[in-house]
Amino acid sequence: MSWDDFAKHARDAADWGANYHKTIRDRPVRAQTAPGDIAAQLAPSPPEDGTDLGAIMADFERIVMPGITHWQHPRFFAYFNSNAAPASVLAEFLTSIIAPQCMLWQTSPAATEMETKMLDWLRQGLGLPDGYQGVIQDSASSATLAAVLNMRERALNFRGNIEGLHGQPTLRIYCSDQVHSSIDRAIWIAGIGSDNLVKIRTTGDLRAMDPLDLEAAIAEDKLAGRVPAGIIAATGATGMGACDDLQAVAAVAKEHNLYTHLDAAWAGTAMICPEFRTLWAGAEQFDSIVFNPHKWLGAQFDCAAHFLRDPDVLRQTLAIRPEYLKTHGAEDIIDYSEWSIPLGRRFRALKLWFLMRHYGMEGLRVRIRNHVMWSQALCERLRAEPEIEVVTNPILSLWTFKVAGTSDDDTQALVDRINDDGRIYLTQTNVDGTKVIRFQAGQFDCEQRDFDVAFDTILELARAT
Ligand SMILES: *Cc1c(COP(=O)(O)O)cnc(C)c1O
Repeated sequence: MSWDDFAKHARDAADWGANYHKTIRDRPVRAQTAPGDIAAQLAPSPPEDGTDLGAIMADFERIVMPGITHWQHPRFFAYFNSNAAPASVLAEFLTSIIAPQCMLWQTSPAATEMETKMLDWLRQGLGLPDGYQGVIQDSASSATLAAVLNMRERALNFRGNIEGLHGQPTLRIYCSDQVHSSIDRAIWIAGIGSDNLVKIRTTGDLRAMDPLDLEAAIAEDKLAGRVPAGIIAATGATGMGACDDLQAVAAVAKEHNLYTHLDAAWAGTAMICPEFRTLWAGAEQFDSIVFNPHKWLGAQFDCAAHFLRDPDVLRQTLAIRPEYLKTHGAEDIIDYSEWSIPLGRRFRALKLWFLMRHYGMEGLRVRIRNHVMWSQALCERLRAEPEIEVVTNPILSLWTFKVAGTSDDDTQALVDRINDDGRIYLTQTNVDGTKVIRFQAGQFDCEQRDFDVAFDTILELARAT
């Protein structure tokens, strides 16, 4: 393909994209295909001869699009949103044209210097103190893994990487019983072992881990000769939005000299609004904080913002400098590949620059506030209906419900009916052993009318139970 042809096809794709988004409400939110439907339409072997791009585009429409779940649909109320604001899409398009690999400062100084600056913009946006430095990780899962490796190496005096874990003392890490599965996986991968991830019981409306239980668990481990290494807290955990009491957790961590990591992958974005910051009061005492601009903020996937109070711990844990990666003659530069697990890195800061400049922090705040307000209003409307039982109250824009007096199987059947219907998309979770339906709002372009559709759909299908 010539670059002139590329330009023509790119213009076509841009037109296609604008039309897709303008008519997206006409599509069912969740893909309505059965397993294997798409695979059956893909050729069994790669073609020997090339095909014209027009034909490939036509097949894209015909074969691929029916198998897409529309994450940018304004009535996507499942999981957590993974927004791609148009300004960020444009930045990603430019990035994929330049296609720099930004592992070192010299492999694209603009990417490194913009990353430092954008993470500082975000830090200010969240109201975090200026002691933090940031790095963009590919996902919150990677940031959490990096933090767990920090806990491990710090507790072992940085001997784990060298000697391995065999013969080392048993390390212990603490978190609440509400944390995301990425914490369990980080513990596996870091060689700590799931037996040594101590899940502390949660209490209260915010499902915070009980600081007395936390303290007791640490004391018991110390008595038994095990070595506490760190605490992972959550602000806005995935199930129903649990938020730990960060002041209390930080106080325990300080007393025992433990490394602290905060998983605010979803809810972190809401902290650009000062009125929501009471949910993470004490965050500024944490060693490591992650939140995903690729969720609620609108930066195209992938983009996880990872803030560190002392990046040297991370560098000591992850940095390797073979000769071929050294930059000679340049002091005071950052090579971000030393701050993350993969060596190769995409230019992810550009979409943050486009996003924050185009909408402005106030423009982004207005969206978050609307999502929270509309979601909470919908919760109250449904609560007033006799058949609906609100199980957990809204934490920001997330709450859970079920049809009063029905079984777990009925609840699952209702979720399935709602998603087969296609007007909205919801998912289920467990709260205290009961299956419930999650409602969560945060699509970049959703409007009040989308919540009206949600109200009608939920009530209509709940009544048909
Ligand atoms: C989404 C989410 C994660 C995982 O995020 P990835 O970027 O997909 O790894 C972790 N924790 C919480 C609370 C989340 O909501």
